[in-house]
Amino acid sequence: RWMFYTPEMAEQMVQRREMENSLRDALKKQQFRLVYQPRYGHNSSRIIAVEALIRWDHPELGLLMPDQFISLAEETGLIIPLSDWVLKTACHDAQQSLHGLSVSVNISAVEFQSWGLIDRVRDALQVSQLDPARLEIEITENATLWNPESSLELMLALKKLGVKLLMDDFGTGYSSLSYLRNFPFDGIKLDKSFISDMPESDSANTIVKNIIGLGKAFSLSITAEGVETEGQLQKLMMMECDETQGYLIGKPLSLTALQEQMAALDSAAQERTGQQSQG
Ligand code: C2E
Ligand code: MG
Ligand code: MG
Repeated sequence: RWMFYTPEMAEQMVQRREMENSLRDALKKQQFRLVYQPRYGHNSSRIIAVEALIRWDHPELGLLMPDQFISLAEETGLIIPLSDWVLKTACHDAQQSLHGLSVSVNISAVEFQSWGLIDRVRDALQVSQLDPARLEIEITENATLWNPESSLELMLALKKLGVKLLMDDFGTGYSSLSYLRNFPFDGIKLDKSFISDMPESDSANTIVKNIIGLGKAFSLSITAEGVETEGQLQKLMMMECDETQGYLIGKPLSLTALQEQMAALDSAAQERTGQQSQG
C-alpha cells in the first residue's frame, strides 16, 4: 500500500500527543477555570442566569479557549473528568455565591451517549446541595441525532432529576420541527450567526422573529446568543425575545467580577426605586 508522507505529519502527531499529555496534567494541576457569561431577561435590566465557560491557563501557551482543546478532550475520553470538574465547580459556585441565579453547563455530544452522565449530574447536585431547578444542561441539537431513542430516555432521566435542558446553537444543526416537539427541551439558544445579520438584513429579522414565535408555540424560552449591537438588542426586545446574551450586555467574567457587576446592577435598581418613591 502506498501512502503520502510529509514530515509535518509526524510533527502533528507529536504535537497532538504532547497536548494530550498536558491536558491530562492540567486536570491534576488544576489549570482550568470557569468564567460566567450572564443571560439577561427580556428587558435586559436583570441577570437571570449565567453560562459556565471553560478556560485553560496553560503554563507555556498562555490562555487557551475551549475550541483549542475540547475536541481533543472528546477524542481522548478526557472530556468526562473535565466535564465533571465543570459540573461540580459550576454547581458549587452557583450554590455558594450566585443566589437566585440559574447556571448552565455545556455538555458535549459524546457525553450524551452514555448513561454515566445521569450519575455525574446527580453527584454534582448532591455534593453542592444546589436546587436542581437552578441547573441547566446545554446540548447541541446534533447530540440527539446519533441515537434519538436513547437520547430521549437520557433526557427524560435528566428531567427527572429536576434539571432543565437547553438546545444550544439552535439553527446550525439538523434538527427539525419534530425534534422540538418530541424532545423535552425547556428552551433554545438561537445561534449567533442569525443574530449577527440583524437588524440590517430583512431575511435575518424575519427568520429570528419566526423562530421566536415557534418557541412560544412549543412553550420554550428563547435566548438570543451573540448580541453585540444596540440595534440587535432593540430589535430582539421588539420581537419579545425572552432572553439575551452577548458581548454588548455582558462578557464572560470571573466569579468575583460577576458578583461585582451584580451588586452594581442591584444598587442601580435600588436607586431608581428610591427616586421613584421620592418623586
Ligand atoms: P457556546 O456554548 O455556544 O458558548 C458561546 C460562545 O460564544 C462562548 O465562546 C462565548 O464567549 C462566545 N460569545 C458570547 N457572546 C458573544 C458575542 O456577543 N459575540 C461573539 N462573537 N461571541 C460571543 P467560548 O467561551 O470560546 O466557547 C466556545 C464553545 O466551547 C461554547 O460555545 C461551547 O460549545 C464550548 N464550551 C465552552 N465551555 C465548555 C465546557 O465546559 N464543556 C464543553 N463540553 N464545551 C464547552
Ligand atoms: Mg453554550
Ligand atoms: Mg451557543
